[in-house]
Amino acid sequence: MRRALEELKERAFSDIAAARRRDDFLAVKTRYLGRRGLLTELLRSLKDAAPEERPALGKLSNDIKEAIARRIDEILSAIEETSKSEARVRERIDVTLPGRGVRYGTLHPVTQVMDEICHIFSLLGFSVAEGPEVELDYYNFEALNIPKDHPARDMQDTFYIADEIVLRTHTSPVQIRTMEKQKPPVRILSPGKVYRPDSDVSHTPMFHQVEGLLVDTNVTFGDLKGVLTFFSRKMFGEDTNLRFRPSFFPFTEPSAEVDIRCVMCKGSGCRLCKQTGWLEILGSGMVDPELYKVVGYDPEKVSGFAFGLGVERIALLKYGISDIRLFFENDKRFLDQF
Ligand SMILES: [Zn+2]
Repeated sequence: MRRALEELKERAFSDIAAARRRDDFLAVKTRYLGRRGLLTELLRSLKDAAPEERPALGKLSNDIKEAIARRIDEILSAIEETSKSEARVRERIDVTLPGRGVRYGTLHPVTQVMDEICHIFSLLGFSVAEGPEVELDYYNFEALNIPKDHPARDMQDTFYIADEIVLRTHTSPVQIRTMEKQKPPVRILSPGKVYRPDSDVSHTPMFHQVEGLLVDTNVTFGDLKGVLTFFSRKMFGEDTNLRFRPSFFPFTEPSAEVDIRCVMCKGSGCRLCKQTGWLEILGSGMVDPELYKVVGYDPEKVSGFAFGLGVERIALLKYGISDIRLFFENDKRFLDQF
C-alpha cells in the first residue's frame, strides 16, 4: 500500500510537470483528488491494511493529497497572475498620446450663401416667403405673362408632372401667390429649389434661386439700382462696381441684367469673365403692369421691381469654383473647405 501511494505521488507529479494550460492542471487535480479520483480509489483499500499500519498510511496519503493540491494551486495562481499582468499591458492607456478630435459638420456652401443673401436683404426690410416646388402651370407661367406658345414652356426647358403641373422653373410663382393674398406694400424674398432639364459645368437639373419683389407707391428703377448695389457690395466687397444691361423678361418691363466687375481680375480680363472684365450675377426689372392686373392691384397706383439670382452662381463666384456640379457630388474633401 505504501509503495502504491508513493507511485501514485510520483505519477501525479510527472503529470503536473507535463501539463501546460490551466485546464490541464485542473484535469490532473480531478484525476487524482476528485471524488472518484485515483487517490480516493486507493484509500478504499486502507481497510485491508494491518490495523497498526493504518494511522501511518492515513497520514502518508493525507500528506500526498496536500502536496499534490498545493503544487497545482501554486501553478494555477501563478498562471492567473501572469494573465492579469498581460491584460494590464494590453489595456494600458497612454495618457500622453494626443487625442482624436471630434469633427464638426458644417452647413453646405450653397446653404451658407443662400443664408447670407437672405441676411443682406433682410437688412433692407425684406422678409422670406415660400411656396411649393411642384407648381401649377398657372403660377409658374400663365400668371407671370408667359403665354402658352412661349419657348420657356418647351419640354426641353421644363419638367412636366402632368399637363398643368410642373416642377417650378423659378421661384417667381411665390411672388404671384404672395400678391394674391397681400395688399401693397410688399417686400419679400423667395429662396428655394428650382428645376430645369439641364446639366453641364454651369447647369444642374436642380439649383437654388432667390428672388425679390418690392411693390409700393412711387417705386422707381433708381430704387432697384440702389437695392442691388447695396446687395452686391455687401456680398462681394465695398469696391464692387455694377453694370446694368437692357434685357428682356416676360414679367418685367423694363428689364435689366446686372453684371459686377470681375472678382478675379478686377476688370482687366481673365478666364472667369471670358476676358470681358464683367460677370453676370442676376436678372431684374420693373414689374410688368400686366402682373398687377392678374392679382388685382391697380397698375395706376402701385409700382415695383423684381430681381432673381442663382445661388450656385453666386457661390461659384464668391469661392472661385469652376464646376457647379461639385456642389452636388457630396465629396467631403470639397465640402470641408467651407
Ligand atoms: Zn475676370
